[in-house]
Amino acid sequence: MRGVKDVVAERAIGLDGAASVLAWDELVMSYGEDCQGDRGQGASRAITFHLTHLWGRPMLDVDIVSHCNLGCRCCCHFSPVTEARFLTLDEYARELGLLAQVKGAADYFESINLMGGEPLLHPELAGFVRLTHELLPATRTRVCSNGLLVREVADDVWDAMRAAGVCLYLTPYPIGIDYQGLVTYAGDRGVRAEVSNGLAVGEGGTPYFLSTPLDEHGGHDVTQAFMECPLGGVSLQLVGGRLFPCNRGALFETLNERFGTSFAHESEDYLELAFVSDVDEIADFRRTPKPMCRYCAYERTVRVEWGRSTGEPSEWIVVSSSVSSATR
Ligand code: SF4
Ligand code: SF4
Repeated sequence: MRGVKDVVAERAIGLDGAASVLAWDELVMSYGEDCQGDRGQGASRAITFHLTHLWGRPMLDVDIVSHCNLGCRCCCHFSPVTEARFLTLDEYARELGLLAQVKGAADYFESINLMGGEPLLHPELAGFVRLTHELLPATRTRVCSNGLLVREVADDVWDAMRAAGVCLYLTPYPIGIDYQGLVTYAGDRGVRAEVSNGLAVGEGGTPYFLSTPLDEHGGHDVTQAFMECPLGGVSLQLVGGRLFPCNRGALFETLNERFGTSFAHESEDYLELAFVSDVDEIADFRRTPKPMCRYCAYERTVRVEWGRSTGEPSEWIVVSSSVSSATR
């Protein structure tokens, strides 16, 4: 199998070049809006971005709510097409408890991101905040929200976030919300809030993000796919006591249920936390291409303008005759 260094050499970016910091906006805007776009530039930049962050501290995402009150096209957590589901506090206590027992885990992650879906929909959000702080007090906790419900957050949630030093992390969408006003609103309740730059913004303020469709036939070069995947192994996902290198790979089952696809995991695709004793194992795991990377049609990565999802399978997968849209 080709290694990481082979891909870097082929792209002629040099490992030294990979050490330079590349802004997310710069990366997103280097892709075209269709498959004929300048992928060469986008791909090289994705590899640079990936290498830069792969050797930094990772983030850990936990979807405490599967569904969302916004429904963005190409959402990488598949929220517009998932069944509504809330993670329970018992489930979370078990999963995070496993992680907390791993040697070196106390400050391994740059942040634990309580998200979804929309986490502010969870009626027990205060409990999730308290539990995260209790089990991993040295790790920054963020509640990642689209902002729609911030002014409806209950007092006990503000109290819990304030006590745990949680950051309310807002991703801005063009839906008429005064995000800076929400930062002030949270600050008035003693909670720090930030507006993320997680969306690239083009001329006229149009937000964009990247979309890589999944191809259920697999067959893609796993090393190439992994290297061109800017957040693989950078933004990990915790699901059912398993640690995955990415959101999309962790949540395949949503697509299988909704569209009748047959995405499948192999045991190398995830780490069972119950069998992990040291964070060195997580470090090795997250920096290695996975068998499931064969599903990622990296050569079809495009820059997508933000919009509401229609639930069409083509927002997430390479559509073939075997893919059902009848269940939408
Ligand atoms: S706000 Fe976030 S979680 Fe909700 S649909 Fe949009 S991208 Fe997905
Ligand atoms: S399966 Fe591999 S290439 Fe695809 S998103 Fe996950 S880490 Fe990236």
